Amino acid sequence: MIRAGSRLRPVSDGGRLRIAAREREKVSAMNILIVDDSLVSRSILAEMLRDAGYANIMQAGSMEELFTMVCAEDDPSCSLVDLVLLDIHLPGKDGIEGCRELKQLEQFRDVPVIMVSGLEQLENLEPAFAAGAIDYLTKPPNRVELKVRVSSALKLKGEMDRRKARERELLEMTARLEEANRTLQRLSSRDGLTGLANRHAGNDFLSREWLRAIREWQEFSVIMVDIDFFKPYNDSHGHLEGDECLKKVAGALQAGMHRPADLLVRYGGEEFMALLPGTGIEGALIVAIAMKEQVAALELPHGSSSASSTVTVSIGIASSRPVENMPVERLIAEADRALYRAKEEGRNRICVSEEEEAPPGS
Ligand code: GH3
Ligand code: MG
Ligand code: MG
Repeated sequence: MIRAGSRLRPVSDGGRLRIAAREREKVSAMNILIVDDSLVSRSILAEMLRDAGYANIMQAGSMEELFTMVCAEDDPSCSLVDLVLLDIHLPGKDGIEGCRELKQLEQFRDVPVIMVSGLEQLENLEPAFAAGAIDYLTKPPNRVELKVRVSSALKLKGEMDRRKARERELLEMTARLEEANRTLQRLSSRDGLTGLANRHAGNDFLSREWLRAIREWQEFSVIMVDIDFFKPYNDSHGHLEGDECLKKVAGALQAGMHRPADLLVRYGGEEFMALLPGTGIEGALIVAIAMKEQVAALELPHGSSSASSTVTVSIGIASSRPVENMPVERLIAEADRALYRAKEEGRNRICVSEEEEAPPGS
């Protein structure tokens, strides 16, 4: 605690500061700062406040002394001040200017300031209120008046602290809710825009069905689909229409698939993946052709595609009858390479994995 005439220093060490912060819940434990150049006036005020039950009193002899401490370092004692009793007449910067500057500091914005003024200075109070003071006391202070005004100012400060704490809690809760929503979205099995299975669900399905295909020595096909020139589509039609386009293409691709065991997945932004258990390359090619035709039938105008005047897709297919220990990633990579070829060869077409086309044993 700052003694009369000393510079403003931290109320105490770190441990006591923490206790002080908790104790501030009680009005009597709040920290009051007296700024007055007269040692006698400070001592009288401090004494009366102690008599009224306020134990934590800090003192500064001038605004400069206060500001040196406040601005020089991140002094925790300053953020613990709950009320300032500010002499209107100070050497150097006077109380009115001091109050204005104090109110511009973040840690003092919500700290009530009571001006202390001689009777002859009462006409100066108007600018003091304009500078942010909330009340005033006349010198010499009256014990009862001091107690009442300090008590109501501290109650106001307590209310503001509680309101700020509630706001902080609300903000933290909102952040936690948003995080939980993101986790739910990740864990949920549907893509929010198209309603198709999302990549997470696609991966689950793949690992399950791939193992079944190995166990039952069944064929398995993967079809990768990517919308052609979708970035230019977004650029010229706008992102919202881009989203609409994605939904319609998703519906068209789904319309090309008929078996209940098949799954269509939104794999990435404008990429889709069809997983066809128990289907060989011929069956997969029929599905891919149907998908491509369904998309063409949408006749969605596309002004910036060199492949067509409407929205089109490129498709890559890979198929396999997996054996023990064969990783599913190999099939996906093959379908991806076939898709890449379809893009390279001019888009708006279907390419089958070269592994499929290679003669057996080669
Ligand atoms: P390519 O023919 O080679 O496939 O070219 P592209 O422009 O389709 O491919 P690229 O990968 O360069 O761009 C994909 C674009 O897809 C980028 C992004 O703007 C768009 N996109 C991805 N996800 C979404 C989405 O959810 N909504 C919308 N509107 N656009 C998306
Ligand atoms: Mg694309
Ligand atoms: Mg793409």
